[in-house]
Amino acid sequence: MKILVINAGSSSLKYQLMDSVSHDVLAKGLCERIGIDGRLTHKVPAKDLKKEFEIPMPTHAEAIQSVLDALVSTEHGVIADVREIDAVGHRVVHGGESFAQSVLITEDVMKAIEDCIPLAPLHNPANITGIRACQSVMPGVPMVAVFDTAFHQTMPEKAYIYALPYEYYEKDKVRRYGFHGTSHRYVSARAADMLGKPMEQLKIITCHLGNGSSVAAVDCGKSVDTSMGFTPLAGLPMGTRAGDLDAGILQYLMNKYGWNIDEALNVLNKKSGVLGISGVSSDFRDVESAAKDGNHRAAVSLETFQYSVKKLVGAYAAAMGGVDAIVFTAGVGENDAKTRMAVASGLEFMGVKMDEAANDIRGKEAVISAADSKVKVLLIPTDEELMIATDTADIVGR
Ligand code: AMP
Repeated sequence: MKILVINAGSSSLKYQLMDSVSHDVLAKGLCERIGIDGRLTHKVPAKDLKKEFEIPMPTHAEAIQSVLDALVSTEHGVIADVREIDAVGHRVVHGGESFAQSVLITEDVMKAIEDCIPLAPLHNPANITGIRACQSVMPGVPMVAVFDTAFHQTMPEKAYIYALPYEYYEKDKVRRYGFHGTSHRYVSARAADMLGKPMEQLKIITCHLGNGSSVAAVDCGKSVDTSMGFTPLAGLPMGTRAGDLDAGILQYLMNKYGWNIDEALNVLNKKSGVLGISGVSSDFRDVESAAKDGNHRAAVSLETFQYSVKKLVGAYAAAMGGVDAIVFTAGVGENDAKTRMAVASGLEFMGVKMDEAANDIRGKEAVISAADSKVKVLLIPTDEELMIATDTADIVGR
């Protein structure tokens, strides 16, 4: 099946056309500046081809139309007719408690995604706009929603409940949801494949470390805890996000600097994390190079990040009563040998023994622990688009 995978943001839209059987990426690209002017970057991996176009995109509908035009173009297209696209898979950030799995999009499903807007006010409206735009230019083509939150819906109540008055959960749905679920699901399933064991026999800790970062505890194939919370601001310090914080700090700083809550959250979301501590950059490469040149704050920001990941690995091993494998993925997890080593070193007491030479690798599936390590440590590049395409093909093919 040929599946078009769509990840719609408020002014941008990423796409991939995939063959769900061979897993080949036929074409992929990005629409930017939707609602402003419009720019399309279109790539055909098999031909090593990259094209850029200025195309007016007043709305997401024109953006999707420009993607379809690129896909069927006689010069840089990959299909002869739009009707070759069997289905569309949409990334949707928040499914609340309504969706524990991917689902065929119907009007009832759209209503439920709309009901989740208060939980993800920046993301869900953009995802909805992307779905509506696809429906308008591809009428009759089946569409599937794949939720970032769905994989974590298996968490037990003790892991997702906040110690607030219970009414805020019951009335207002304030609870831990967790994000990056598609990535945690993909890499934990790949880990089981690589280890040649059924998921039902494995306790896995998945570390998705990128600009946004989260760690998940996956017991018998089910997420039982994860570090992001009600919003993706929780858990680890990230590129620009603060992660977990004493809520009292907010009151103190807001009073001191006269910030309103939006200003305070802007600091927590955009000016904190590795960027905030280092004062250098949110990009780990820049921060590492500054640390190498002796920049103290850069070094501390990296140590704080690595220490936070290590603590979660320990916590989740305790939560599951053991761990068989630790997986590193996403931009930092896949590319940064030093961070992986810093997280895993010192965990020898719980059976983790790294192989320094095997860890000296980037962006490829590999076992990076020593042959005699009781806990296997794996590098697995994430592939959320493949997961979305696979779910879409499964649901539409039923
Ligand atoms: P992601 O959000 O998964 O795309 O990850 C982006 C992050 O990966 C950025 O902060 C990059 O600095 C980081 N990254 C990419 N390549 C490397 C590398 N070779 N070493 C360290 N960090 C890297």
